[in-house]
Amino acid sequence: MSGLKSALRAISAPYEPDLVMAQARALSRQIPLMYIMLVINSLILAGSYVGSAPVAMTVYVPGALTAICVGRLIFWWRRRNRVISVDRARRTLNSMLWITGPLALGFTGWAISLYPYGNAYQQSHIAFYMGITTIGCMFCLMHVRAASLIVATCVLVPFTVFFSFTGHPIFTALAVNMVVVVVALLVILLGNYRDFNALVASRSAIVQRQQETQRLSDENDRLANVDTLTGLPNRRSFDRHLAARLADAPPGGIAVALIDLDSFKSVNDIFGQITGDRVLVEVAHRIDTLRRPGSFLARLGGDNFALIMDGPTSETLLQVTGDLICHALRSSFELPGATIHLTSSVGFAASHVDDTAETLFDRADYATSVAKRDQRGKSVVFNDTHAQEISKVRMLEHALHTADLDKEMYILFQPQFDMLLKRTTGFEVLARWKSPILGEVSPMEFIPLAERTGMICKITQTVLRKALLVSKTLPRSMRLSVNLSAHDIGSATAIESIVALVESVGRPCRIDFEITETAVMRDLVQANDALLSLLALGARIALDDFGTGHSSLTHVQRLPLDRIKVDRSFVADVTHDPTSRAIVKTTIDLCRNLGISCVFEGIETEDQLHVLTGLGGSVMQGYLFGRPMREEMVHNHILTERREWGAEPAQYFGNTG
Ligand code: C2E
Ligand code: MG
Ligand code: MG
Repeated sequence: MSGLKSALRAISAPYEPDLVMAQARALSRQIPLMYIMLVINSLILAGSYVGSAPVAMTVYVPGALTAICVGRLIFWWRRRNRVISVDRARRTLNSMLWITGPLALGFTGWAISLYPYGNAYQQSHIAFYMGITTIGCMFCLMHVRAASLIVATCVLVPFTVFFSFTGHPIFTALAVNMVVVVVALLVILLGNYRDFNALVASRSAIVQRQQETQRLSDENDRLANVDTLTGLPNRRSFDRHLAARLADAPPGGIAVALIDLDSFKSVNDIFGQITGDRVLVEVAHRIDTLRRPGSFLARLGGDNFALIMDGPTSETLLQVTGDLICHALRSSFELPGATIHLTSSVGFAASHVDDTAETLFDRADYATSVAKRDQRGKSVVFNDTHAQEISKVRMLEHALHTADLDKEMYILFQPQFDMLLKRTTGFEVLARWKSPILGEVSPMEFIPLAERTGMICKITQTVLRKALLVSKTLPRSMRLSVNLSAHDIGSATAIESIVALVESVGRPCRIDFEITETAVMRDLVQANDALLSLLALGARIALDDFGTGHSSLTHVQRLPLDRIKVDRSFVADVTHDPTSRAIVKTTIDLCRNLGISCVFEGIETEDQLHVLTGLGGSVMQGYLFGRPMREEMVHNHILTERREWGAEPAQYFGNTG
């Protein structure tokens, strides 16, 4: 049974789809050639027997065989360039295999049956015709092993048997010749077939590998362009789209909106990352349902989303869209175990002539930062005022970058008054910049700028150097407070330079440092190390602008602080706002519990002072006690104060004082 199966398999089309297709392709080129050769050779043989053999043998039989050949030739010729399915190709191959045997036997039978009618030449022609045509056909069928084998068997067996039994030694020799040649040819063709098979298999493997590589590359491409959390296009995809849309759009034809969630970090901190992720998915969904058809929404990363909108891009329209988005995101997020309230700041910019993707994005980004700064939870459309602000900042940036800090920077001193000791115990050192190009520039302008551009560390060095020079001339008990920025605290090298500068003046150290909550929050470990290095100098550390940052009381407890400076916004309201008063009271209690002192900033009125002292405050700083003053005024200030107590001024001044 299994022998029959393998015999059937040997004369059937192969299973492998790629091999079937390759064989069908090869045959469609070679089979028409084979039939042409077979027909011509047969007609020549028939022609050589006209007159010797009966008409049936020279006309009808070869005519019928030729008709079959021509039919098959047309069949193969028609499908030589046609794309067919594997099943169709397999069916064609099988039908060809089933026709090959009878056709080969038909031609063999016809040729042998001519033998009795011919003379020696004509009989030799039969042998030659059969041999040469068989070899030709086997060559044409070389890519289909089964077909070659069928032809070889169907011709060789009758040929050998017949010519061996003719009794003529020459024909017997011819039969042996034929066997040798056909067997040798079969060996070669079978080898070739194996190679062909292997080639097809390796080509299929290459194609499969290529397809797999393409699939992986497509998948990579998809992942590289999609934000996996929300399923929205990501930053890379956004950049590509923005550049493409800008290239096609007329001026003002598109607008970019950047949507930034306010205080999203605290959602992650309080409710955990998973809830944070759910909020982001919901935010993406809400913006998606609001966006105009055809606009492109992407998540740029973190809590930042962006929209690219096709025109119209009038300020009013953008403002309306922005308000809708802000309103949608203001509705509470009802999540399992948490109800979250958020606001978002949205910035819009419409495209200009000569805009690049970067310039358009930067304008939208600026509008977002204005919204965050001035109108948290609202939307801002970039306008001319913003453009002027930017060019002013650029001018400032350039002037600061090229400034001779030693020459252009100077420092002012603002007294800090102790209500219990009834005297000034120190001064806060405040940086001032007089640019030869821009004139006096407020620290509220150049300090944030210097922080952004990294220039702040140089400014700190300059301010500290100048403060150290002045400290030598002040009474020994008088301390100077120098403000440090987040960059100073966050960089080990900056702290090393500060320590080296203070040490170069010698001990005792009369410098204190003020740091802000946000500076500390960036990297608690580094901040702690930095503060310990400063404490080792004998400096004291004050936490500036307390209450305006986002730090928690645990951070305050963990840091080696000597004092807390309560921000002037609380002081300003302390006379009429019970909340401010409660915060002030809690802070005083906290300081008392921690054993550190509490300084109040920005005291301008007697009323404020009265309330603060009533709540237990003792160290005060503000215009009421003295505005920031020049060095010469500092000496005067101390002198007047001392004189009031009747002390001799000389003993309080100078390094040896
Ligand atoms: P700050 O460290 O909180 O400094 C106190 C600010 O409040 C100073 O403003 C001071 O002039 C102002 N001020 C003091 N008393 C009163 C008052 O009674 N009423 C009002 N309205 N204001 C008062 P200034 O000098 O403009 O400095 C602003 C900020 O710039 C400082 O706030 C500080 O954060 C930063 N800054 C100033 N100098 C430096 C510095 O050398 N380095 C660093 N990193 N930052 C500095
Ligand atoms: Mg300060
Ligand atoms: Mg302050």
